[in-house]
Amino acid sequence: MLYPETFDVIVVGGGHAGTEAALASARMGCRTLLLTHNIETLGQMSCNPSIGGIGKGHLVKEVDALGGAMAIATDEGGIQFRILNGSKGPAVRATRAQADRILYKAAIRRRLENQPNLTLFQQAVDDLIVEGDRVTGAVTQVGIRFTARAVVLTAGTFLDGRIHVGLNNYQAGRAGDPPAISLSARLKELKLPQGRLKTGTPPRLDGRTIDFSKCEEQGGDLDPVPVFSFMGRADMHPAQMPCWVTHTNERTHEIIRSGFDRSPMFTGKIEGVGPRYCPSVEDKVNRFADKESHQIFLEPEGLSTNEYYPNGISTSLPFDIQYQLVRSMAGLEHAHILRPGYAIEYDYFDPRSLKSNFETRSIEGLFFAGQINGTTGYEEAAAQGLFAGINAALKCRGDSPWLPGRDEAYLGVLVDDLITKGVTEPYRMFTSRAEFRLQLREDNADLRLTEAGRKLGLVDDVRWDSFSRKRDAVSRETQRLASVWVNPRNLPAAESERVLGKAIEHEYNLGDLLRRPDVDYSALMSLAGGVYANPEISREHLGELLEPVIEQIDIAAKYSGYIDRQRDEVERSAHYENLKLPDDLDYSQVTALSFEVRQKLNKHRPETLGMASRISGVTPAAVSLLLVHLKKTR
Ligand code: FAD
Repeated sequence: MLYPETFDVIVVGGGHAGTEAALASARMGCRTLLLTHNIETLGQMSCNPSIGGIGKGHLVKEVDALGGAMAIATDEGGIQFRILNGSKGPAVRATRAQADRILYKAAIRRRLENQPNLTLFQQAVDDLIVEGDRVTGAVTQVGIRFTARAVVLTAGTFLDGRIHVGLNNYQAGRAGDPPAISLSARLKELKLPQGRLKTGTPPRLDGRTIDFSKCEEQGGDLDPVPVFSFMGRADMHPAQMPCWVTHTNERTHEIIRSGFDRSPMFTGKIEGVGPRYCPSVEDKVNRFADKESHQIFLEPEGLSTNEYYPNGISTSLPFDIQYQLVRSMAGLEHAHILRPGYAIEYDYFDPRSLKSNFETRSIEGLFFAGQINGTTGYEEAAAQGLFAGINAALKCRGDSPWLPGRDEAYLGVLVDDLITKGVTEPYRMFTSRAEFRLQLREDNADLRLTEAGRKLGLVDDVRWDSFSRKRDAVSRETQRLASVWVNPRNLPAAESERVLGKAIEHEYNLGDLLRRPDVDYSALMSLAGGVYANPEISREHLGELLEPVIEQIDIAAKYSGYIDRQRDEVERSAHYENLKLPDDLDYSQVTALSFEVRQKLNKHRPETLGMASRISGVTPAAVSLLLVHLKKTR
């Protein structure tokens, strides 16, 4: 049957990428259809019940600054919040939350069900409708044909998915969900370059059978309790729960080693490469053979369940080994496994075959986002989904793509890394991937992106009003601080010693004083009985925005010197960053370049010189030679 209504954008898959893609496209006014296997699993966390962390939290804040759902759903479903790296510089500080997976899913579903312009439909997609080199729709398992001008594919770990537990294996998308076999075959037929990756998950435990008195308690931050969304409030969190810590020991490691001969990883049953940064416990014991113990976090899965997620023992060893290894740890001697751990292998597509807007180069209108692009993690998926949803909507509107730079957002770093470098293992975000990380902080994600989001049509009036008040207050106060001068005549020495540590010797403006590492805004405003304080920077005027405004003024002052230096670097590299490389450039003719570099450039065909510079093996010297060649020939 041909479905009577036609859509602008169809999103296939209701995971973290698909839900953000569908919401973004619909917010931008496009008639959007979200097709997914099962409406009950919208926003499901396949693995750990937590959101954020270093690099990942940065992405979540950016998704939020663009009006996305992940951060606010975490605020509504979060049961433990922490600021990681709290004592380090603001650039590497990151928010991490444990989520009640049921409440999280409900928060996502509520947003999807109430989003204007968005239609949900439950059914597996088995085929794409492709006319010439254009996608025009998708066909479901029972033959319903939905048509659209763009299709965003976010099938996660489901394409030709195969679960492994020991030497047993079977086809599945993740435990309890069907795989996407027909769609995988169709994509192979379309000759989109693909490979296999794998990821794994630990067994889940029944909390009633855990002896928590033998574990260390780890609570969240309570003063204050952090929030994820710029629109979030701590009173949205349902309750706070502790996590617990136990450890593997020599006995655990012996048990694990005794299962190596039945491990699908070590016996070659699994071919796909797994995430190096999230290794299975057997991988850890094998690679770090001299380590006597590994820390295991017991994380609650929610308020209404006894289920616990033992973070650190992801495994695909046979079940009898899983059973023994769990019971070898303190507090887990009698633990009952509710669900076995497993590894899953699945198809991914080489992201270097995508354009910079995530549209496939070979099929117009077909966009890929999420784990299908070789990444791992909910946050990476959500950020890509939002990006693909925006660009699919822009394409339908006939507008140019939206492409944030590497100096504007982690989202820009993520997209650029994927399309230029591709992946050799599941890609996850780290702050070290961003060369401009001093300016890409969690705290200023809104100041970096919300205006762009508003222009794109992603940001509603409530968020825009709140953001505008914050931005304007920060900007007015920063200007005021630069215009208020103190000198040894009008500032008594005792006062200056109290706040600044020593008497000032000549005239300074307040902005200069705030740049000093040990002077913060509140202390500065207490100078001389508060005569320099601004009554507009008060709870009465700013309400909940007060702390974020003060934080921003403080951080901007402390970082301004470093950021200026970094900005110079950005500007210096910008002159070649965006220089377009001609589509018809035959790199094999650029004989000044080494054979390897010519081969790489011909293979990846970067769109700009900046993208070329980030292909592994393309050195700064090669980039200079390419520049010389372009100047000579064009
Ligand atoms: P998914 O969340 O997988 O969502 C895909 C969605 O598409 C699902 O709703 C599915 O039903 C739907 N779908 C697929 N095919 C079709 C079709 N043909 N028709 C209709 N609907 C379809 N991440 C980490 O960061 N750390 C980890 O340790 C980790 N371990 C993991 C372990 C396992 C076993 C699994 C399965 C995942 C793990 N992940 C881990 C990855 C994390 O779950 C993913 O990165 C994230 O969920 C990807 O989001 P996504 O939206 O791309 O795909």
